[in-house]
Amino acid sequence: MADNFDVIVIGGGPGGYVCAIRAAQLGLKAAVIEGRGALGGTCTNVGCIPSKALLQSSHLVDEANHAFADHGILVGKVEIDLATMLARKDDVVKQNTTGIEFLLKKNKVAYLKGWGRVAKAQREAHEIVVKDLDGKETTYTTKYVVIATGSDVTPLPGVTIDEKQIVSSTGALVLSKVPKSMVIIGAGVIGLEMGSVWRRLGTDVTVVEFLDVILPPMDGEVRKQMQRILEKQGMKFKLGHKVTAAKPGKDGVAVNIEPAKGGAAQTINAEIVLVAIGRRPYIAGAGLDTVGVKVSNRGFVEVDENLQTNVEGIFAIGDVIGGQMLAHKAEEEGVACAEILAGHAAHINYDAIAGVVYTWPEVAGIGKTEEQLKDAGVAYKVGKFPFTANGRARANGDTDGFAKILADATTDRVLGCHIVGPAAGDLIMEVAVAMEFGASSEDIARTCHAHPQLAETVKEAALAVDKRALHI
Ligand code: FAD
Ligand code: NAD
Repeated sequence: MADNFDVIVIGGGPGGYVCAIRAAQLGLKAAVIEGRGALGGTCTNVGCIPSKALLQSSHLVDEANHAFADHGILVGKVEIDLATMLARKDDVVKQNTTGIEFLLKKNKVAYLKGWGRVAKAQREAHEIVVKDLDGKETTYTTKYVVIATGSDVTPLPGVTIDEKQIVSSTGALVLSKVPKSMVIIGAGVIGLEMGSVWRRLGTDVTVVEFLDVILPPMDGEVRKQMQRILEKQGMKFKLGHKVTAAKPGKDGVAVNIEPAKGGAAQTINAEIVLVAIGRRPYIAGAGLDTVGVKVSNRGFVEVDENLQTNVEGIFAIGDVIGGQMLAHKAEEEGVACAEILAGHAAHINYDAIAGVVYTWPEVAGIGKTEEQLKDAGVAYKVGKFPFTANGRARANGDTDGFAKILADATTDRVLGCHIVGPAAGDLIMEVAVAMEFGASSEDIARTCHAHPQLAETVKEAALAVDKRALHI
């Protein structure tokens, strides 16, 4: 037996490494097992961070192509050095993964490199086997185990991902040349973010979506406005369609689509196909079946309100337990789990977790949508304010979109906020804080916002809840 720990976390993503750091801060002897050779999980290696690096680079290209001239800046034809753009992205990833390794060291968290599995569940002395990158196995014992093994791409029958012509988000982050055309299956967050990257770099992008709407979980008004904006930018949509097959060949991929409700099939050809129809929990090889950890019929690890599985002392957090598959949700669960293990009380307010789509303009939502409030029969008031009426947005030349606040009709408590607009993801965070404090829309409306700021749009939306917006 190699070593004993208080807590061993399997998986070094944002859920896992944050859980281990918090556990160590609270005096527990903690370790993280990670098999991919770098810390940070999907998010840092092939998710949030590399996609945002490419979104930023391609946004600058878009600005140079479409916005500079309005400012009197003439740059002529913009050329793209894709190799440098991709190398910069890789460097950003490296800075983050090595940064996390430093954080583990600083907090005295052991980093066990390899693939981990629960070999034996035994109260306060669970056995974990780690197979290192050379195949050598070492057994550790631990009081608590935290499963933080994350998620993986959901495959689509009839469309085989080869990461060359038919790619997942991982392949879409490393294309060595700008494709002429791309079909994206799924108008969710990955489809619209990666579609924006390649559209800005010059690819003709068509998004095929099974439902009649884009970004299905978001507020209806936001979805409609965003679709119009993306279409204006040149992205094409085939909504209400399903892909039945995709055949790669010498001249690209032949994609067969047909209306979801039935009708004539058609074929679209594209150089690259991106499959982005969601992600599914990843538990392969973690030994959960050996020790009887219960998973749902969709493969998510089931946990109680303390994030504990049905096996005493084995907990789970992040994408692998489902809910919003977001890095910050995984981190919140990581912190809560560590605090529970250290004997503290912990709570996660799932109603105040923002979802952000990093297109431009951005889309951000928190709390309830209008559709959810209507379905639940909750009486609510709406305050809405457009960026066209915000001085800073005009000065920036970024006037697409609006902010909308939903408040309880009787108590005025903020129930949700939905923003399409420049930096929507940053702007929504003041509403997140307000919601954590159980604030009313009047609390936001009475907060002095510095001028001239995009955030005044949020304040005006709050004023508009009581029909007293000042600048419209
Ligand atoms: P993961 O990050 O998936 O980490 C799990 C880790 O466990 C992996 O590194 C895996 O190698 C390791 N592992 C698995 N099994 C074992 C084992 N047996 N032994 C050892 N190690 C193991 N979310 C956001 O909030 N914002 C974004 O902007 C964003 N952008 C994204 C863009 C893309 C393209 C993708 C794919 C995802 C994005 N996400 C984003 C989602 C985000 O990446 C996930 O929600 C987040 O990474 C989940 O964290 P996690 O810790 O639960 O799992
Ligand atoms: P998603 O769930 O956001 O979107 C998938 C889309 O595919 C949906 O619109 C769905 O209706 C559609 N779809 C499903 N089956 C289909 C089919 N057969 N044909 C056509 N369309 C189909 O999933 P995603 O975009 O793959 O992203 C996966 C996860 O990663 C999400 O949970 C998301 O939260 C996370 N993520 C987050 C961010 C962010 O926070 N900015 C960025 C990227 C990914």
